[in-house]
Amino acid sequence: MVNEAMRKLGAQGNPMRVLFEYGKKRAAVIGAENVLDFALGNPSVPPPARVNEVIREVLDGPRADSIHAYTSAAGDLDVRRTLAKSLNRRFDAACRAEDLFLTAGAAPALCACLKGLCCPGDQFIVIAPYFTEYRVFVEGAGGEVLEVMAEKDTFLLDIPAIEAALNPRVKGVVINSPNNPSGVVYPSENLIALGDLLRRKSAFFDHPIYLISDEPYREVVYDGVQVPWVPHYYENTLVCYSYSKAISLPGERIGYVLVPPAMDDHDVVYQAVAGAGRCTGHINAPALFQQVAAACDGMVSDLTAYTTNRNLLYENLTAMGFECVKPNGTFYLLMKSPEPDAAAFSRRAMELDLLFPDTGSFAYPGYVRIAYCVPTRRVEMSLPRFRKLAEMYGLTPAENG
Ligand code: PLP
Repeated sequence: MVNEAMRKLGAQGNPMRVLFEYGKKRAAVIGAENVLDFALGNPSVPPPARVNEVIREVLDGPRADSIHAYTSAAGDLDVRRTLAKSLNRRFDAACRAEDLFLTAGAAPALCACLKGLCCPGDQFIVIAPYFTEYRVFVEGAGGEVLEVMAEKDTFLLDIPAIEAALNPRVKGVVINSPNNPSGVVYPSENLIALGDLLRRKSAFFDHPIYLISDEPYREVVYDGVQVPWVPHYYENTLVCYSYSKAISLPGERIGYVLVPPAMDDHDVVYQAVAGAGRCTGHINAPALFQQVAAACDGMVSDLTAYTTNRNLLYENLTAMGFECVKPNGTFYLLMKSPEPDAAAFSRRAMELDLLFPDTGSFAYPGYVRIAYCVPTRRVEMSLPRFRKLAEMYGLTPAENG
């Protein structure tokens, strides 16, 4: 006898990974170069050169004897001091070492926040379309998911819709900007409106409504777009960050939770986050990569390839008659399915060995997500196949308006 809910989660796998596994099987038959896989958000550009230098320096440095040892559960104190300084310099965050809790990436950071905050009966608002795992994380923490749709077409926060969903059971709101899967970055006006709403509703319900800001793509932006620092707009914000995407270290598992000093009941919230980590087996974030994070905070991989891919896809797909959301961050492009059943569209693309998931699992049916963190050659090879799809559906450039 096992926990049936857990068994189901383990058996299902996430749809992007299922597609990715299919791609690998297909590659064995027709050759890897012929399978055009756009399923996974696995960074394709290397980390900045400095990352490998730092690793070598740390391994050969004065702390070489202890680099593989356990650290404090929250992370090495010097590392947290350095990180706090970096965040203060970059964002005027006014934070301290004791506000940071280092984790093995954004996913465990989110889980620690959700589990730390969640009391029986609590709900968490998530903005659809949303990262598939949010539901798993919220429910795993014992909470209930309340889905609120993003604003139609712009994919920004729909403040009236969030207001309508807020009720006394809502403990928190999870946002993600730059957004997976829409690629949209929330501008400061949108966050000002959200902050005002949450402040007003917290007072009305007489308890804080926490904002959990999931930011693994913070530096992955284009055209000079600035990503606002969310705690400036709402004091009860917990920031979940990761070095997976900005410096291409997803397999090394390093990130943090920041509980800003201005938060109501700061110490209680921080302790709850730490306790939730403990409860799920957190001992400390990987020690070597704590050092890397401290030395490399704020760096960004060379985004030239993503920029080229984004432009190639957006310009060509819209010219073919597909409707796309122009991403100004992340490495995802959201494209409207030319038939109502986006899963059927994705299957049709699969027949051309063009792999991308539909957005049903992001709780926003009708679209597909194209992860363009791939070699540019793959994007170039995909264009004739997209053209074929456009022809199959009778799209014309004029339809794009
Ligand atoms: N949040 C979002 C929106 C993501 O897209 C991802 C990974 O793709 C994560 C969190 C998890 O990131 P990490 O690798 O840091 O755990």
